[in-house]
Amino acid sequence: MIAAKVEPIFEKSETSEFYTIATLGSHSALQILKGAHDEGFRTLAIANRDTERLYRSFNFVDEVIGIEKYQDFPKIVDRLENRKIIIVPHGSFVAYLSLEDHKKMTIPYFGNKAILDWEASRELQRQWLSAAGLNLPRQFRNGAEIDRPVIVKLYGAQGGKGYMFLRDAKDFEERAGLLARRDYILQEYIIGVPLYIHYFYSPLTGKLEIMSMDRRYETNVDSLGRIPAAAQEGMEVQPSYVVVGNSPVSLRESMLAEAYRMGEEVVRVSRDICPPKGLFGAFCIETIITPDTQFYIMEISARIVAGTNLFIDGSPYSYLYYSEPMSTGRRIARELKNALLTNSLRRVLDDSSVL
Ligand code: ATP
Repeated sequence: MIAAKVEPIFEKSETSEFYTIATLGSHSALQILKGAHDEGFRTLAIANRDTERLYRSFNFVDEVIGIEKYQDFPKIVDRLENRKIIIVPHGSFVAYLSLEDHKKMTIPYFGNKAILDWEASRELQRQWLSAAGLNLPRQFRNGAEIDRPVIVKLYGAQGGKGYMFLRDAKDFEERAGLLARRDYILQEYIIGVPLYIHYFYSPLTGKLEIMSMDRRYETNVDSLGRIPAAAQEGMEVQPSYVVVGNSPVSLRESMLAEAYRMGEEVVRVSRDICPPKGLFGAFCIETIITPDTQFYIMEISARIVAGTNLFIDGSPYSYLYYSEPMSTGRRIARELKNALLTNSLRRVLDDSSVL
């Protein structure tokens, strides 16, 4: 008889009911915890004084721990480390916890923390995406180099706040005062349709899935087209890119294969830059599609993004894979459940995780 190959840490396979999936009460926590509940896990929201009551109001949230502010999360880590808890991170983890805090934490953590360094730095992101062969907007080192319209991206901006559109080098000179002592990049302005593609890569099956897609609704750039260009003349309206919402999109099917290929390439290169596990779980490629149907990549988020909240009940794409409601949050829980059932939990957790 051939003995089954099992990881030494477990004597037998376990099921989701023994584990609690925990996350910070913000961003996509409701989706993550609902998904975890639907896959048979216990659920825990770490909320602050303002959000505690909200999270308690949902039946699928089994437990709420209240902390003063999200930055205090490291203070309760000791308490959580002694329990069978798995952290599912989202955008607020990155916003409220430093990379060091992330790395210090030994609570089982879904995802690969090493990729966060590559996500956090615009330069490293660019290296990663170019190595994957994706189209990137050109970048200019200074105002004098600008030879086409650019978008000025301030460092640390969130949700497009403070971004500026500049027509040419002269425009840059005129508005340089606004940028003095600020850190920013000058990026080619791509005229096209923005599309955010949500993926899930399973290390257990080695398969990539397109979970859903959205576009952002941004003020005021998405309303400028409602005023004829001639009428805008002399109005001095500057486009701004502040996100106010998201709407679902389904992509023209002839472009889907390229969207899939881009996801595969990003995952492939991630194994070279963060070996051996690379990027796994949920991620999002933020694109702009030009009239010749080329995808240009603005950014990559190496985790679940808030645009997936549109699809708590699943998307047309996740339905094609699962024929049942499958949000990205639930897909994460499904991966953890499958890992438990096959004694492969370590394959879907960061290596810092102490089980
Ligand atoms: P988040 O961190 O929430 O993803 P952000 O602050 O990093 O947001 P981006 O997603 O990079 O911001 O960009 C915000 C918006 O600016 C985009 O949705 C898009 O409308 C516009 N934008 C960004 N880069 C470009 C570009 N190269 N060409 C044209 N528009 C762009």
